[in-house]
Amino acid sequence: MDLSADSACLAHAQLFHHAMRIITTSLHTASPNGIELIGGDGAVRLGFPVVAVYAADYPEQALVTCTRYMQTCPKCFVSRDELGEHVIQEPRNQKESSRTIHHACQQSARACADAVLKDHGLNLIPDAFWIGLPHCNIHDAITPDILHQLYQGLVRHLCSWLQTLIGDAELDARFKRMPRVHGVRLFSKGISCLTQVSGPEHREICKQLLGCIVDAPGAPAGVIRATCSLLDFLEIAQYRSHTEATLGYLVDALDRFHSDKDVFINLGARSPEGFNFEKLHSLEHYADSIRRFGTTDNYNTEASERLHIDYTKDAYRASNKKEFLEQMTR
Ligand SMILES: [Zn+2]
Repeated sequence: MDLSADSACLAHAQLFHHAMRIITTSLHTASPNGIELIGGDGAVRLGFPVVAVYAADYPEQALVTCTRYMQTCPKCFVSRDELGEHVIQEPRNQKESSRTIHHACQQSARACADAVLKDHGLNLIPDAFWIGLPHCNIHDAITPDILHQLYQGLVRHLCSWLQTLIGDAELDARFKRMPRVHGVRLFSKGISCLTQVSGPEHREICKQLLGCIVDAPGAPAGVIRATCSLLDFLEIAQYRSHTEATLGYLVDALDRFHSDKDVFINLGARSPEGFNFEKLHSLEHYADSIRRFGTTDNYNTEASERLHIDYTKDAYRASNKKEFLEQMTR
């Protein structure tokens, strides 16, 4: 029997949580009772491992926290229409999420269950793997993700807005004219010809972007200010150490971006529907996450992306390229 798209999606989520529950089973005893762990100095100590941080990109954050993809935030109760605004709503709580899902499971009709879940922006996953894990609040554990939220998210949007305003030919010409500098990549053909731009390529573009748009036709002062504040946020978010003062600079950069961002709508680079996408909202949680979990290099997904080469690209190359998923899994 073929499943509908929604049912297939739900079945996939339930399979993921079932697998994760098996993987995390040992935490149910290790977290409260402790487990002997060998430290870097060779000494054996009693450790109490808990799920404190879950580093993932946005689709996986939604999957892990059972929140509705593209409709809300995995960490707070912000609504879809508020994602582009400079607000944070009440934080989500694991206990409340599991209570809501449990309540939905007890409804006799699917439509009633869906109504209960929709109000809370949740999906029907009856046995989420984090239910019952000691000292775990899965919503709190979701951390910033520099690679997907900033370089592959907001920087990608910013580049496309600037290309619309300034024009591909003019912006490319400006990138081509950049002088050669040690450590800075020269885009000798501009940036419009790039396909599937990677995170490291966006990082190189960011080094030159502001210099390339100053005094450009189609980029008035508001555009320069908004670009500058977003690039400031990007840099400060990656500091290797922080104080309350530097976190203040981070918040200030976000304040400045929000006060200038409408220029992209007014000039037609962004659709009038606005900025209601989750990656922009996620920036609201950066300062607090850094306070709680340390600097963003501790949980950047860029390190684990490297495993895509071993686990997917190499595996794909080793297959006969036909019905490859099963061969890769084996
Ligand atoms: Zn939020």
